[in-house]
This record gives sequence, structure tokens and C-alpha cells, in this order.
Amino acid sequence: NARPAPPEVSSVCCYCGTGCGVEITTDGHRVLAVTGDGTHPANFGRLCSKGRTLGDTTGRPSARLLRPTLRPAKDEPAQEASWEHVLDVVSTRLADAIRQHGPDSVGFYLSGQLLTEDYYLFNKLARGLVATNNIDSNSRLCMSGAVTGYKQTLGADAPPACYDDFAHAGCVFIAGANMAYAHPVLFRRLEEAKAAKPEMKIIVADPRRTDTASLADLYLPVLPGTDVALFHAMLNVMIWEELIDRDYIAAHTEGFAALRARLREFTPRAASELCGVHEDDIVTAARWFAQSPATLSCYAMGLNQYSNGSDKNAALIHLHLATGHIGKPGAGPFSLTGQPNAMGGREVGGMATLLPGHREPGDAAHRAEVAALWHIPALPSNPGLSAIEMFEAAAAGRIKVLWIAGTDPAQSLPEQALVRTALEKVDCVIVQEAFNSSETLAYADIVLPAAAWPEKDGTVTNSERRISRVRAALPPPGAAREDWRIVAAVAQRLAATLMPERVALFEFADAAAVFAEHAATTAGRDLDYSALSYELLEQRGPQQWPFDGKIGRTRLYEDGMFPTASGKAQFVDIAWRTVSDKVSAHFPLRLTTGRLRDHWHTMSRTALVPALTRHAEEPQLAMHPRDLQRQRLGSGDLVKVRNKRGAIYLPVVADDTLRPGVAFIAMHWGGAALGGQGINALTTRVIDPQSRQPELKHAAVAVEPA
Ligand code: SF4
Repeated sequence: NARPAPPEVSSVCCYCGTGCGVEITTDGHRVLAVTGDGTHPANFGRLCSKGRTLGDTTGRPSARLLRPTLRPAKDEPAQEASWEHVLDVVSTRLADAIRQHGPDSVGFYLSGQLLTEDYYLFNKLARGLVATNNIDSNSRLCMSGAVTGYKQTLGADAPPACYDDFAHAGCVFIAGANMAYAHPVLFRRLEEAKAAKPEMKIIVADPRRTDTASLADLYLPVLPGTDVALFHAMLNVMIWEELIDRDYIAAHTEGFAALRARLREFTPRAASELCGVHEDDIVTAARWFAQSPATLSCYAMGLNQYSNGSDKNAALIHLHLATGHIGKPGAGPFSLTGQPNAMGGREVGGMATLLPGHREPGDAAHRAEVAALWHIPALPSNPGLSAIEMFEAAAAGRIKVLWIAGTDPAQSLPEQALVRTALEKVDCVIVQEAFNSSETLAYADIVLPAAAWPEKDGTVTNSERRISRVRAALPPPGAAREDWRIVAAVAQRLAATLMPERVALFEFADAAAVFAEHAATTAGRDLDYSALSYELLEQRGPQQWPFDGKIGRTRLYEDGMFPTASGKAQFVDIAWRTVSDKVSAHFPLRLTTGRLRDHWHTMSRTALVPALTRHAEEPQLAMHPRDLQRQRLGSGDLVKVRNKRGAIYLPVVADDTLRPGVAFIAMHWGGAALGGQGINALTTRVIDPQSRQPELKHAAVAVEPA
């Protein structure tokens, strides 16, 4: 009479870009347990607090969107409707906008939470049927600076290192990344490497002395937005003290002479004035970085989310090129992806500036290649709008239909006043979403209820270029559907209306078929995994790209060849720029933002778990005790934080991990928690001209008693 063992499904945690493998145990109706997958190379069984409590976020229909709804008019309440009817309406609204206002009156705003298959079909719909490049993603807010940094210097958007490199590194330089909170399982790996090799040097550069900095042998309290001065000065020291690898520079790089001339002005003393790091510490950091047998750099939003984010990325990569710390075990620049599938989204080209297979829409040959793969005459050539530009266009009345999937721009985009104006102005806002806590739902004309983890099949790519299968363990609740199926159903209807010959382009039996078509688009490209399939992932487990049919490549550029026109990596002559929002007598505090350990983004999932919310139950403004004293404020006082864009009210807390003049608010809370406006009422929509990523990490503000 033994009961059958509960079914176990191998999948991947849906939070950060570490991409930890999980085992989901169910009774067929609900999740009984979520444990770490001991065989997955990202985590070998480990999970952080968020991953361990994933099971507690499931089986909560009261938190979910269960039925499609339509709002007949802007001032009327939403009504439930059948899928068939709603899909017809979405198709009609798209067709009408295209006919009346042109393809570029349609915009798609997606998410790094989507699976690769979802992303691929959204992209094919936008470019291959609607004929617009107006498709972007909240990955624009996350890793775009890393993408442009890699492309400018190394020639391709490809993180060269891997997780195994923590064990081989002699020095780890962490810049603008709080790994202990944002990538906890990777941080544990680093802690283990340090314990096994106490001589390993760890350097942390961050405006806050975070939990990550507690592991550091050297902490550099860099001022927000000034990292280029720090990195330039470190290279200046390396040149001055003959610590660079001249042979590597000569054999494998170009552009060093021009940069070298630029670096003369970045002496440690001069740079110290700009970045706030003591000149002796700059010298020590440069020596440790250069003299280690292998140096690994880890970085994330603290570099990317600035108007000079691309410059910061490139300036850090220069340190690796100048010392030859790249293409060998334990060495290389290593961007830590924020979201679970920001990498996969880049691979399918689900962004305004990308096409499938790391191609670019501005390149006519690339457009022709993708058009041939999709069996259509041509792809649109008009430049697409990135996230911020799309909402600016919407506010100006140029976007008539905006389809938002898996993200909550009414909370997470900067300069909320403009975002909310934009959402009010768009004729038809379509929100494809799993959770009912999204603040964007208040603006939705059409709501498409989506399946969520662990209810859908697909793949994700993690920070070390490793593709893993995400598997459904339960059916979606109510009438919710997998994202790719919703997109395919709309696309077939729209094609039947506009171009019947393209209906077949959106007929897929399952997620495996979508993946197969996507993988084929990577053939011959830097990330080539055209030989990979669901069958192979089943047999051999998660694989890194590029994948040659048998094995994925562990680390890149081991042969010293780079995917640039000359085959050589490039030094970029980077001029000094700092933040867009300068402090002044009116707004004297530098406000920076970041994650908490136990929350994820807008908390649609993590707020469901009491064990996670206990870590930080409410938003707070953290300020240095000296700044509090100067303003006669005490911990717990309610304050008004304001600047020229908006104002929010929240309690203040003394925090001596900050340097005087710098304040911090966690990114997770929106207007619902703060009684009107969330943290992004204060942040700026100024973007990096190269990456088009907004400066979410810095705003000049004033603080006063509420
Ligand atoms: Fe999930 Fe990231 Fe934690 Fe791993 S480290 S369990 S992927 S949140």
C-alpha cells in the first residue's frame, strides 16, 4: 500500500541571474517543497532565502490574475471576458493602430523575467509582423551598460568568465555589486574560495559599506557615479609602476596609446578628489589587481545604472586588457546579471537595439539575415525606442497601443510623473501579467493573465552564459496561460487580418519548437548554440554557450582572439563625465538606490512570504549619523525626501555604512506602500547616450522633517 513518491520536477529559481537549479516537489495540485538541485552547476544544491521560500509564493490564487479582462472605455470598470474575445480585441486594436498611425505607433515593453521562448515570439511579432523596432525590456534598466561595455572593448555581448573562476582567482575586484544581497549563492562561493585561500585579495568599491564589503581586504568608498576616475587612476598606477602586461597589450589589443595619454591627468591624487577614495588605497588596489596571478572583476547595477554606465564598464575592462587578466582561469571581467533571463532576452534580440543572435537592427546585413530566417521580405529599419524613449513617446501621444508584459513600469521606471502621464495617454494599454499587485494594472485597458513560475516551460540563460530548462510543475491557476502561447495566439489573428501568408510563422506545437527556431538563429554567431535542443538539455543538463554540439565553452578569449574587425580587443579613450543630477545648495544629498537581501524587484512574489518581509518591513531612508545630526533628525523620524521631480515621505534611519552626504533607499517599494509615490518619483530618466540605460542609482535630493 505504499503511496507513489510525489512528482519531482527540476527547474530554475525565478529570481536573480545566478540561475540556481531547484527541485520542485508537488502532489499534483500544490507545491510541497522546493529544494536546491545538487547537480546544477550554478549552485550545487544551495539556495538563498528567496529561493528556499519559493514554494510559499505558490498556490495563492488571491494574489493572481485569473481571467482576461477588458475595459470598454477609459472611464468604465474592467469586465471579465473570454480568451477568444480578448485575443480578437487585442488583434483588432493592433491592426487599427498599424493602419491608422503606422507600425511605430505600437510599442512592446517586456521583462527579464520572461523565458527565452516568450521573448523570442514577442520579438518575432514586433519585427516580423507589426514591423516595428519599438520593443524593449526592463533589462534596459539592468544590464545595458554591461552590453555596451563588452561590445566596445571585447567586440561582443559575452561575459567571458564563469562561476568556477571564483575558485581560481587570486584577487576579486567587486565594483558596484552587493553580491551578498543580490547574488547570495555566488557570494557564498566567494566566501568559500576566500576561506580556502586566505591570501586571496578581495577589493570592494561601493558608495555603501555593504555586507559584501565585510569580506573585503580593501574597501573603496567611491562616490556615486565617479568610478571612471577610480579605474583610470588604477591604470595610471599600473603604467607608472610597470605593472601592465606589455606583451598582451601589443599582441591582443588596439588603442592603448590614446588612452594612455588621457590617463596622465588621472593621478591617484587627482582621482581621489573626484571619486572620494584615498590615493593610497587607489595605489594598493592597482597593485593587488595587477600583481595577482589571476584577477576577476564582478560588477552589476552600481556600474550600469548611470548616465556614464558604458564608460564605467569599459574603463573596468581596460584594467583586464592592460594586465592580461582575461581568458584564463580565475580572470576576466564578469558582469553579474540582475534578472533571471536578461541574458536570454539579449540572445533573442528582445530589445530596441538588438536582433536575434546578437545581431543589430541598424545593420542592413543583419536585418536581411533575420528576414531570411523568418521567411519574410524585410525587417523594419526605423530605429526603435528604448524603454525611457518609448514612455516619452507615449506621453507625447505617439504610441497608440502599448503591450506591457511581466513588468510594472508604474512602479519601476524612473521619473514616475512622466510614466503615469504616458500610461494615461496611450489609447490601449495591454498588461500581460501574473500577479494582481502590479501598479500598472490601474492603467490597463486589457489584462491578459499569465502563467508564472512554476507553471510554464522554457529556458533561461544565467550570468555565466549557461542555458537551463525551466519546467512546469503545476498547471496555471484559473484561465492564466503561458506567455508565449498568448503571443502566438494574438500573432496568428493579426497575421490573418494583415498578412495571411504569415499565420504559419506563429504556429508552434510547444515551447521546444520555439526554442529550436530561436537556437537556429544563433548559427554562425558568437553565441552559437544552434546544436542545442531540449533533448540535449534533458540528456546533459544545463549548457554554456557557445555550444559546439558536445560541450559548452567554459570561458571565452583563451586564444587571445576577440570578435572585433581586427580580432583585437579595444581600449576606448574615455573622457571624464559624472552624474547628470548634480548636488547643489537646494538638493545637497546624493541619493542612491539598491536591493535588499530578501526582496525581489517590486515584491509581487516576495511580499507574499512573511519570513522574507521580516527582514525589512517598511521602506526607510538611510543617512549618515552626521547628516542626521546636522538636520536635527533622529532615527525613526518621518521625513520628506524631495527634488525637482517629486517628493516621498518615509522614516529615516541612521546608517554609518554610508559616507556623509550619501543617502540610500531600497528600490522595492512603490506608491502603494508610500501613500502615493514610490522611490522612482525621485529618480531621473536621463539616460546613458550609449546604453540608453537610465541613471536609477543617483538623484540629488533634499531631506526635511515631514
Ligand atoms: Fe534564486 Fe538568486 Fe537566490 Fe539562487 S541566488 S536561490 S537564483 S535568488
